[in-house]
Amino acid sequence: THFGFREVPTQEKQRLVGQVFSSVASRYDLMNDLMSLGVHRLWKRYFVATSGVRSGDQVLDLAGGTADIASLLLPRVGARGRILVGDINAQMLRVGRDRMIDRGLVQGLEYMQLNAEALPFADASFDLVTMAFGLRNVTDKQRALGEIRRVLRPGGRALVLEFSEVKADWFKPLYEFHSFQVLPRLGRLFAGDSDSYQYLAESIRRHPPQEELQAMMERAGLTRCSYRNLSAGIVAIHSGYAV
Ligand code: SAM
Repeated sequence: THFGFREVPTQEKQRLVGQVFSSVASRYDLMNDLMSLGVHRLWKRYFVATSGVRSGDQVLDLAGGTADIASLLLPRVGARGRILVGDINAQMLRVGRDRMIDRGLVQGLEYMQLNAEALPFADASFDLVTMAFGLRNVTDKQRALGEIRRVLRPGGRALVLEFSEVKADWFKPLYEFHSFQVLPRLGRLFAGDSDSYQYLAESIRRHPPQEELQAMMERAGLTRCSYRNLSAGIVAIHSGYAV
């Protein structure tokens, strides 16, 4: 013993740490499924299917922790393509990487701990930068968008999938009820943590709505900026190109 603590053998410690993270990861998936009734899977599929990603593309998937987007992109970039998964959280990255390794997906993938507000890449390094459900969590969103534009090659595309503003009036009360009554309760029941899910609802409400985010992308120097609402605007896909 050291300082009165029982020393945990390295192997047992590795096993314990593994257990903790895999339980976090599986709960993360379960929560996404419960909160969106599984629809987040469809949003992500649609996001990648309409991304215009091509064989041989060099892709940066920001906030890609869970590797959900990377796993959908991978078959589309082919053997000459490359996907770099970047996330600020090392634990999320580890979980995503392990999940990909378990599925035998290794070739063409790289993982890097990074902050979207200060990307460690040269200008014009990527053909496509994706960011799914990540921009909302970034402190200086304008700066992150500027960084995305900077690392894109001329003609390269920026794609952001994020919660947005619900546009259907009839759906608004239902959505508010879901966000502020159902979500925190789901959080407490299934993740033992209602505060995080309260935060989630609030971060969604604070996130810039469609027109505002489009203006921010234009300000970041992206051109031909546009967006498409999915599920009445619960989420939106924003697109822009570098020149
Ligand atoms: N893209 C994945 C998906 O769609 O399932 C994960 C989304 S998860 C809700 C948000 C992720 O953003 C987390 O993994 C978090 O670590 C990451 N993140 C938050 N702030 C970040 C930043 N400044 N730079 C890079 N990643 C960030």
